[in-house]
Amino acid sequence: MSVEPPQHLNPEEFRRAGHATIDWIIDYLTGIEDRPVSPGVQPGQVRASLPDTVPETGEPIADLLADVDRLIAPAVTHWQHPGFYGYFPGNSSPPAVLGELLSAGLGIQGMLWSTSPACTELETHVLDLLVGLCGLPDRFRSDGPGGGVIQDTASSASLCAVVAARDRAGGSAVLADLRVYTSNQSHSSIEKDVRVAGFGADQLRSIETDDDYAMDPVVLRTAVEADVAAGLIPCLIVATVGTTSSGAFDPLPEVAAVAAAVGAWLHVDAAWAGSAAVCPEHREILTGLEHADSYVFNPHKWLLTNFDCSAFFVADRKFLLDSLSVVPEYLRNTASDSGAVIDYRDWQIPLGRRFRSLKLWFVLRSYGVEGLRAHIRHHVEAAACLARRISSNQRLKLAAPASLALVCFSHVDGDNAGKELLAKLNATGEVLLTHTQLSGRYVLRVAIGGSRTTSDHVDRLADLLDELA
Ligand SMILES: *Cc1c(COP(=O)(O)O)cnc(C)c1O
Repeated sequence: MSVEPPQHLNPEEFRRAGHATIDWIIDYLTGIEDRPVSPGVQPGQVRASLPDTVPETGEPIADLLADVDRLIAPAVTHWQHPGFYGYFPGNSSPPAVLGELLSAGLGIQGMLWSTSPACTELETHVLDLLVGLCGLPDRFRSDGPGGGVIQDTASSASLCAVVAARDRAGGSAVLADLRVYTSNQSHSSIEKDVRVAGFGADQLRSIETDDDYAMDPVVLRTAVEADVAAGLIPCLIVATVGTTSSGAFDPLPEVAAVAAAVGAWLHVDAAWAGSAAVCPEHREILTGLEHADSYVFNPHKWLLTNFDCSAFFVADRKFLLDSLSVVPEYLRNTASDSGAVIDYRDWQIPLGRRFRSLKLWFVLRSYGVEGLRAHIRHHVEAAACLARRISSNQRLKLAAPASLALVCFSHVDGDNAGKELLAKLNATGEVLLTHTQLSGRYVLRVAIGGSRTTSDHVDRLADLLDELA
C-alpha cells in the first residue's frame, strides 16, 4: 500500500486525553458559579477568535482542551449554572454524561434491531421502566400494541404523532378536509409540525384558554362540532400538560372526551412537566392520559438526563409504522422479516439513531426512585417558597399560579418596569431569567429545575428580586 492510514491516538494517548477531558468537565462544573450565567459576547466575537484553517498535521488534544478552556467555555451560556432559570431547564448529570460517553465510545447505529440488538432492547426496556416509574397508562408499554421510543426532541416526537394522526384519518386523499386543534398556549413546535406535515395554516385551530391559560374544553367542543357540521374531519387534538409560557395543564379528561366523540387522535405534550410524574403526588396532572393515543415528555429537561432524550409513547405502534415504515432492499434482514423484533427507524423520521437509552438507564439506576423524586420535590418546594416571596413583594405580582417549579410574575408598574427588572437581574451574572407574554402583558419566568439548583440558590434569587424590583 502506498497510502498509510491516519495516525490515531494510541490507546495510552486516548486514555490520558480522556482522563484530562473528564477532569476538565468536573473542574468546569465545580467552578461554574464563579462565571456569569450569560457570557455577554458580541456577535462574531467567538468566530473571530478561532484558528481559521484546518491544521496540515494533527494537533495534540491538550491544545484543543486549552482552546475550549480559553475560547469556548467563556462564550457559552452556562445552562448548568445553578442560577439558570431561563426557558426550561436542560439537565445534565454525572451518570448521564458517562452514559453519553459510552454511547460515543461504542459508536453504534441503532436503526434496526439487527444493527445493534442491545440498543433496541435496552431502549424498549428503559421506556417500559419509565411507564412504571411515572405511573403512565399500561397501554404505553411495549408488551401490548403500544410502546415507547426515544426521540431527539419533543418537536420530532410530536411530528410523528401529527403524521400518524393525519394518515389514520385518511391521509393525502382527504388532506384538505383534515383539521387539527391545540390551545393558543401550546408550544410553537406543534404549529411547526403541523406545517411540516403538509397542512395549511387554516387547518390548525387555535383554541382559547381559560383564566389560568388551560385549554377551554367547551370552546374546543364547539370548534370540533362546527367543523364536523361543515363536513370537515377533526383528525388530531394536541393537549399540553405544562404549557411553556405559564405551566398550565389542559384538562385531559374533557379534551379526551371531545377527541373520542369524533375519533380524533389525542396527543399529549408534557415535554417539561412530565418528569414530575416520578412523584406520585404530581400524577394528577396526567389524569385522563389513559385516553391518549400518544404522549411525550423530555427527560432532557427535568430528569437529570443530557439533551437529547425525549420519551415518546404510543398506544398503538401500528399507526406509526403505517406512516413511517419504508423498507428498501438494502435494509431487509431476517430478524425484521420475522416480525419478532422492533426496528425503531420505523418510529421516527430519520433512519439512523444514537444509543440514547444508555444515559437514561444510567440516570435511573444511579439516582434510583428516591433520588429522582428528591430532585423534583426539592425544586417544587423551592418554587412554592419563591412564589410566597413574590406574593409578599408589593412591586411584583404572580402572573399565573405557580406550576410545579415554574413561577411567572410581572411588575406592578407595567411592562417597561418588568423589562428593566429582567435586564437588572441578568446583569448581575448570578441568574438568568427569560420572559414571555400572558394576556398581552410582559411576564418574567423563573423555571427552577437545574441539576445543581438548590433552595439556597432560589432564596438568593428572591433576595435579588427584593433588592432590584
Ligand atoms: C420544551 C417544550 C417543547 C419542545 O421541546 P424540544 O424537545 O426542544 O422539541 C415542546 N412542548 C413543550 C410543552 C415544551 O415545554
